[in-house]
Amino acid sequence: MKTIIEPFRIKTVEPIYFTTRAEREEVIKNAFYNPFFIRSKDILIDLLTDSGTSAMSSEQWAGMMRGDETYAGSTSFFHFEETVKRITSMPHIIPTHQGRASEKIFFSIIGGPGKYIVSNTLFDTTRANIEICETEGVDLLCDEGKIPAVPSDFKGNINLNALKEFIQQKGASNIPVCVLTVTNNSGGGQPVSMQNIRETSKICRANGILLVIDACRFAENAYFIKLREPGYANKSVEEIAREMFSYADASTMSAKKDAFANIGGFLALHDEALAVKCRNLLVVTEGFPTYGGLAGRDLEAIAIGLNEVMEEPYLQYRIRSTAYLSAKLSEAGIPVMQPPGGHAVYIDAKAFLPHIPVDQYPGQSLVCALYLEGGIRSCEIGSLMFGKYDDNGKLIPAQMELVRLAIPRRVYTQSHIDYVAEVILELFEKRESIQGMRIKEEAPILRHFTAKLLPYYGENLLVNYENMAEGNR
Ligand SMILES: *Cc1c(COP(=O)(O)O)cnc(C)c1O
Repeated sequence: MKTIIEPFRIKTVEPIYFTTRAEREEVIKNAFYNPFFIRSKDILIDLLTDSGTSAMSSEQWAGMMRGDETYAGSTSFFHFEETVKRITSMPHIIPTHQGRASEKIFFSIIGGPGKYIVSNTLFDTTRANIEICETEGVDLLCDEGKIPAVPSDFKGNINLNALKEFIQQKGASNIPVCVLTVTNNSGGGQPVSMQNIRETSKICRANGILLVIDACRFAENAYFIKLREPGYANKSVEEIAREMFSYADASTMSAKKDAFANIGGFLALHDEALAVKCRNLLVVTEGFPTYGGLAGRDLEAIAIGLNEVMEEPYLQYRIRSTAYLSAKLSEAGIPVMQPPGGHAVYIDAKAFLPHIPVDQYPGQSLVCALYLEGGIRSCEIGSLMFGKYDDNGKLIPAQMELVRLAIPRRVYTQSHIDYVAEVILELFEKRESIQGMRIKEEAPILRHFTAKLLPYYGENLLVNYENMAEGNR
């Protein structure tokens, strides 16, 4: 098999920024060991997120110029609406400025005190928008999904038995919605199978629960179904996507992911009465229903991006290039989530840094060490992001301690990725010298964005293990 090449050539380039080790030591200290505080000019390779960081195509840029900036009834809205309707088969399409705005509108209408919203895994903003309505979010991920080292085809599946049991226990009337996140971002970018979506839908319908697809990476999920699920090899990605949505009652999406847009999102619905309520709230918080917080040019870029993302040469390159980085790491013995997800490679920080206890945030230590070693920015998806405290102030850790290397779409070339692998391999050699972290300051909600941290034992994050006092190891 020949090398899978980038299915594009480069028309516009943008500089990346080189720094010295000494400069990075200053930067990370001034950023309170939280990469969300680092400026882009201090970063060489930015794998913080794949959200809003895609390179747009020449066709999308042309669409930006065609964008119709009419307040009401913009042509670009109808182009956008027609595209989303075609893919989701849902009649009510509501544009929003990003995914979380769709979540805010939807859950503040459908949620409420004493209710539960179940999911394979709720993404952090989704969970926050649910909890802010005093509703409890409950993750019911399948067992395979919780073990990073063991590969399985559809580790994003919801646990159907757990779902049935939960409904029995709490009563269907207390569970307005079930959310399937495709692919499962917080659980390693793992796909959900068509069979799982179909069966979840059956259970939901029998109990009067709405099934909502969090569709941020619907095309990547559809492509995994094509590759891995019997009966789908000869179907187009669009046909598969349409079938996925056919089982759902509504969908939220961030266009900053699989729509190759830098901003935007939508809420799609079948139910007219619910759509009316959502649009009423939309006008207050986002804008008129034919622009919803977006410029006409953004709607145009999203419409074009949604079509481009379903092209198979793109998806083949996308999935293969993520797998390429993952293979380089795992061949060197580095513990990564198996198999690799669609948009990111997840390092198992608990296994990478077994000497750091979970209440010293091994994921965050690894994130900071990666920046110090190579100017690479990544993101902790572990107890800093999802940890809670019990009544005695003791940390209730997250299920997994992961470091996410999210790959922006169509942005980095193979040599960038080779460099990333080299840095991680070097760091793995001296992993014992990395120490844990402690939190100095944190916010009550979505704390990972703004938390301030410090190395657990002292100034230098990478200390010489041999020279460390016995009690401090
Ligand atoms: C990014 C994301 C969201 C939120 O979208 P924003 O555009 O960042 O507000 C919701 N769910 C999932 C799975 C995501 O990846």
